[in-house]
Amino acid sequence: MTNKVFVYIDHFENHVAPASFEALGVARQMAETLGGGVSAVVLGQDVDDVVKQAAAYGADVVIKGDDPALKDFRGEAYANVLSPIVADAEVLLFPTSGRTRELAGLVAVDLETGVIPDVIDYEFDGASVLATRPIYAGKLLTKVVCRERRPQILTLRSRAFPGPEADSGRSAEIVEAEVDAGDVATEVIGYRESQSGVSLTDAAIIVSGGRGVSNRPSLVPPAEISDEAEQEIWRAQQGFKLVRDLAEVLGAAVGASRAAVDAKYVPYDRQVGQTGKVVSPDLYIAAGISGAIQHLAGMRTSKTIVAINKDADAPIFKLSRFGVVGDLFDVLPPLTQALKERLGK
Ligand SMILES: Cc1cc2nc3c(=O)[nH]c(=O)nc-3n(C[C@H](O)[C@H](O)[C@H](O)COP(=O)(O)OP(=O)(O)OC[C@H]3O[C@@H](n4cnc5c(N)ncnc54)[C@H](O)[C@@H]3O)c2cc1C
Repeated sequence: MTNKVFVYIDHFENHVAPASFEALGVARQMAETLGGGVSAVVLGQDVDDVVKQAAAYGADVVIKGDDPALKDFRGEAYANVLSPIVADAEVLLFPTSGRTRELAGLVAVDLETGVIPDVIDYEFDGASVLATRPIYAGKLLTKVVCRERRPQILTLRSRAFPGPEADSGRSAEIVEAEVDAGDVATEVIGYRESQSGVSLTDAAIIVSGGRGVSNRPSLVPPAEISDEAEQEIWRAQQGFKLVRDLAEVLGAAVGASRAAVDAKYVPYDRQVGQTGKVVSPDLYIAAGISGAIQHLAGMRTSKTIVAINKDADAPIFKLSRFGVVGDLFDVLPPLTQALKERLGK
């Protein structure tokens, strides 16, 4: 019997995005309703390790497209291989990432079906998936269904679903896919590593800084920094160091508001919000962030939110489970120290 539920395993140079395993967990649940098992699709070059992981996390069948033409992710090449593999699937799941947003759209065009992106919950209506996804910067949740066309393509928000436990003894049927990547116009020239540390979207804990990290007038920059804008950046560096210190003790990723990114305190890849990353960690600590709707859009589904802000009326406190009204320059160092001692670091 051909499986009805397929999962695309997203990886970069064989490092699997953990949300791929969450998608396998969802796929197993869906297969209980739809019947059959779960097929995973792994594309790339020298992907045997990824194939093993897909089996360990719940795939019954792993379809492997292993070819030099797939060494680097290129949407068109990957879609040319993936679309025929999943053409008869009932449901196709992707973990949500920059790559899969592109790929899901291309596959949907090839197969003349739709995409439901950034899903955080679902239920079944017969064989149709009623998917829940946030809209309007997370202010509303909407239910979306793809009734007529197949496959139903969903991208699942990272960390919205629990990840299954790996079982390294589990094996799957391996099927070699025919790889015809087609004549693709683009070529990947290379990669440049960002200096940003722990990945934001996969992090269980995020400590974020906002414009407030530069607001400590009593901090006097060295005499050689006379330009006012440079003085502000210098102050922000001192503030962000406190954010980073706390993040390091907690093993957390560092995030930021757009104001902090626009002011060049940190690079754009740290931005959380409507025009940055959408995150859903267990713990989100916001220091010197007011809580504008566009920032909340990126972190409102965090399980526990802690805010540190000088202004007791800052909107971020409305969403926070715990709040500290105070200057982050006074609050963060003792908090970091106390956690260091508590965690034995
Ligand atoms: C189309 C569009 C898209 C956008 N996308 C995003 C996005 O993706 N992400 C995003 O974040 N924003 C986004 N914005 C910008 C957003 O509207 C806000 O301007 C931004 O989030 C504000 O950042 P902030 O909270 O750091 O700064 P502010 O709003 O200036 O807040 C700074 C906060 O720090 C507090 N503070 C100051 N000094 C201290 C101190 N020493 N200790 C403690 N607290 C202190 C203040 O009380 C204040 O609450 C977008 C805007 C638009 C129009």
